[in-house]
Amino acid sequence: MPRPVDARDKQLIEAPCREVLLGAISPMDDAARERARSTFDSNELAAFLHDGEDKLQRREELVKLLSSQPWGDKTHRYFLTREQEYVGGLKAMVGMWQQMRQGRLSLEDGIAMRSLAYFPGGLELHIGMFIPTLLSQGTPEQQAKWLPMSNRLQIIGTYAQTELGHGTFVRGLQTVAVYDEASREFVVHTPSLEAHKWWPGGLGKTATHVILMARLFAQGRDYGPHAFVVQIRDMATHLPLPGITVGDIGPKMGFNSVDNGYLAFDHVRIPRDAMLMRFSQVTEEGRYVPPPPDNQKASYATMVYVRATIVRDSGDFLSRAVTIATRYTAVRRQTASKLGEPELQARQLPPLLLPACWPVLDYDNVQQTLLPLLARAYSLVFMGRSMMDMYNSFDAARSRGDFGVLPELHALSSGLKALCTDITAAGIEACRRQCGGHGYMLASGLPTLFNSYVQNCTWEGDNSVMYLQAARYLVKNVLAAQAGKPITGSAKYLSSAAQQADAKCGVSTADDWRSPAHQLAALTRVAAQLAAQATQVLARAGGGRVAFDGEPWNNSTVDLIRAARAHVALYLHQNFVDCVEAAASQRALGAAASGVLRELMQLHGVVLLLEASSDLLEGGYCSGRQAGMLREQQRALVRSLRPNAISLADSFAYPDYQLNSALGRKDGNVYQALLDSARISPLNATHEGPAWKEVLEPLLSPAVRSRL
Ligand SMILES: Cc1cc2nc3c(=O)[nH]c(=O)nc-3n(C[C@H](O)[C@H](O)[C@H](O)COP(=O)(O)OP(=O)(O)OC[C@H]3O[C@@H](n4cnc5c(N)ncnc54)[C@H](O)[C@@H]3O)c2cc1C
Repeated sequence: MPRPVDARDKQLIEAPCREVLLGAISPMDDAARERARSTFDSNELAAFLHDGEDKLQRREELVKLLSSQPWGDKTHRYFLTREQEYVGGLKAMVGMWQQMRQGRLSLEDGIAMRSLAYFPGGLELHIGMFIPTLLSQGTPEQQAKWLPMSNRLQIIGTYAQTELGHGTFVRGLQTVAVYDEASREFVVHTPSLEAHKWWPGGLGKTATHVILMARLFAQGRDYGPHAFVVQIRDMATHLPLPGITVGDIGPKMGFNSVDNGYLAFDHVRIPRDAMLMRFSQVTEEGRYVPPPPDNQKASYATMVYVRATIVRDSGDFLSRAVTIATRYTAVRRQTASKLGEPELQARQLPPLLLPACWPVLDYDNVQQTLLPLLARAYSLVFMGRSMMDMYNSFDAARSRGDFGVLPELHALSSGLKALCTDITAAGIEACRRQCGGHGYMLASGLPTLFNSYVQNCTWEGDNSVMYLQAARYLVKNVLAAQAGKPITGSAKYLSSAAQQADAKCGVSTADDWRSPAHQLAALTRVAAQLAAQATQVLARAGGGRVAFDGEPWNNSTVDLIRAARAHVALYLHQNFVDCVEAAASQRALGAAASGVLRELMQLHGVVLLLEASSDLLEGGYCSGRQAGMLREQQRALVRSLRPNAISLADSFAYPDYQLNSALGRKDGNVYQALLDSARISPLNATHEGPAWKEVLEPLLSPAVRSRL
């Protein structure tokens, strides 16, 4: 039996404890001190980013509402089994939906709740793909039939396109829908193992219906993939309907609350009006009516919408990660410097901090990683808004039958989907690594954020394939520019590319690199240069002819991807510059916040240019000295922004509830939060642990124990 603590123990311990705690600083004090260093008001910037204080206030109310619900409680979120995650994700979504109906909450409230609760589940695809596809590809009659039931969750849908053997190459899908004129039905069939549908979210155990992409055959002819609404489960029993095989595909790297599924059909009959016929039809007699030429690309509209939302969400995810990492690294102290060390004395830290370890955010390597990520997160947030604005104005034009901007929007949304998700996936992981060991804890919030986010680089089109879609558009514009045709839209800069080919960078000091004009000129040059290079490589591969498929295209994809990436990087930065300029001209922010935002925008440009520096040098646009000044300017901007790091993170205004991170807490009380989180681990439910009886007790034999 252990001896009780007595006065002598206490006396022995007291002085050493006092010594080791000398100079110890509470992380909460650190967090407060960090905020005191800021040169601008984070509440002001937060209100600007969220379209007004009333929106922020509303979010607080929604947090209260969510956290008071059993399905909204996040305390045990990181300890759930797969089954619990799946059920929990569904309960959360259904709970929010019920709140919306009962409280007559707005769609905006619904979107905000979904982001606050962040518990993706079996309804993701219902909301994200099933309903949007009905809206974009259904006839008014089909919408009248399916949408009310969908909106009331009386049916739950998903989007089943990808097959085990066929993903990117949609035309290669093997699931068939063959029209039977005699019965005026389609017969849907899965002809091979490879043709099993694989991946659709919510298909595994939740969905009652799917939008099925299947190869349409009518009067013996193959018309390629078309969309059909197919019921797959019995509405009373939830069992698969006859001829349907369906199930969950098993655990994944992340996103395990979502039941991605597999699906096969065995000669399943569906009515003729199951085919979504807004643009193409099959008549009762089986005659195929193709979409009107102008509308041929109408089905791209859904893709554009989904990609636009992915672009929008990228800023959301990166800003969450960078908020966690910035707050934590501002209070995490590590590696004491010796008193009186010259570097330490030179630093402008309050005297109180001198004997202690530095906040890790003060290490150059950490701040040179996190501040650029803060800049990127702001850029992505602005890009997401602009992307949705572009989609909404396209949508308005589309309802008037005007699809004119679709090729441009399709290329942009594809390229930006790839670039923004690449930046965010890499950024979340970089944030995790800046948080050291604790970043590896699920309780930090970062591993789950990464694991659930990184799929965005693959789904809805693998990023390389997305860049190639943008490259196709780019090369067409290069050829048009070379033929002297007028170029509009995002590739307009190609019109004057040939005349600008010999232009040289005008930067003479490192500070010159702060100028948006210099930054955009350099990024434009890189984009034009890589677009021309890729077109040349493609033409050479085709023996002088530019081909958009086959071996020549395949042999040029590395150059094409590089060109597309440079094109969208330019667009991304131009958008950041435009948003900052607009905020300044509308006096939407006071001078201090406006100035900080401008510095972030400058840093963003420098970061993109540093990534492109080998191209700047290779194309002869910059000298080695000018390229070197970029690094100098990055360091200067990071130093200048450093005092505002935590306030820039605060301006994203994530409530603690939303981040659900022991490290990202606003009050800085990180160690208490980690300990609290560990205490509720199911492994800690008993002192001896779940392996004691079965494994450890027989091993640690009584004979050995008696000798101790
Ligand atoms: C989490 C998650 C959820 C998903 N949800 C759904 C869903 O709800 N519904 C649905 O239908 N699908 C869904 N998918 C499937 C997803 O859309 C596909 O995985 C994605 O489109 C990529 O296709 P693939 O898996 O066939 O990759 P592949 O095409 O096999 O790609 C493999 C590699 O080949 C390269 N490649 C392929 N084709 C080309 C080309 N033409 N040129 C150059 N390179 C090429 C790619 O870049 C990649 O590097 C989901 C996937 C994931 C991971």
